[in-house]
Amino acid sequence: MSIPMGACLVCGEQLEYFEQAKSMTCEYCGKTELTNTACKNGHYICDNCHRKDAVSKIAELVEGVDTTDPTEILNIFMDQKTTHMHGPEHHQLVACAMAVAYKNAGGNIDLEKALPEILHRGEQLPGGICGLWGNCGAAVSCGIFLSVALGQTPLKGEHYSDVNRQTSRCLNAIAEIGGPRCCKRNGYLSIVESVAYTNAVTGVHMTLPERIECKYFERNNECLHSNCPFFPGSTTPVPSSEVAVVGTPAK
Ligand SMILES: [Zn+2]
Ligand SMILES: [Zn+2]
Repeated sequence: MSIPMGACLVCGEQLEYFEQAKSMTCEYCGKTELTNTACKNGHYICDNCHRKDAVSKIAELVEGVDTTDPTEILNIFMDQKTTHMHGPEHHQLVACAMAVAYKNAGGNIDLEKALPEILHRGEQLPGGICGLWGNCGAAVSCGIFLSVALGQTPLKGEHYSDVNRQTSRCLNAIAEIGGPRCCKRNGYLSIVESVAYTNAVTGVHMTLPERIECKYFERNNECLHSNCPFFPGSTTPVPSSEVAVVGTPAK
């Protein structure tokens, strides 16, 4: 069945978000849990069922891909039929795209270890956290990428500031454009910020296209159209933070 508007995977109806979580049972796997979303007909699909097909072929999809532009790799992931218009799969796909482009640009990262680790960390981010937590998962995904690339942990000081700053810069760009949510827009915004910041921190030279143009907007009921920098023909500028690499303060 084709789901034109990126909504309920069972019936195609729009999703509702609850301010107060409710107990719902997943239509696919039968798990019952508290959630803030279901479709207007009461169907609930858990995050794991929603994203598992979209993230299952990451390694195959990037075999032989040599671009240093993470948006090109993200598009490969998002072009899969199994990647929905919106959904928590983007919280993993964005970081994987960054990691592969970083490697292709000469970055020191072992993808055989990094991609499974990114998938593991990213799957802990539920859907809808842009609005529910004030912490968009595409932005956090870029923090995860940099943490994995630099081997950062909570106990190390060396890149503690860098990984937190990476996420905060992405969040700032997302806030500049505003909502409602779009996983494609926030993925691109986060990648633009992360390429600039990661390059500055690491000296690696990932690239971006002259213009990022979204080809997914027809499936997005809440598209901002010309108010989104990636809408075809839009003149809305991509927000960009100055690339100031402050580094970790000395203790
Ligand atoms: Zn439904
Ligand atoms: Zn499920």
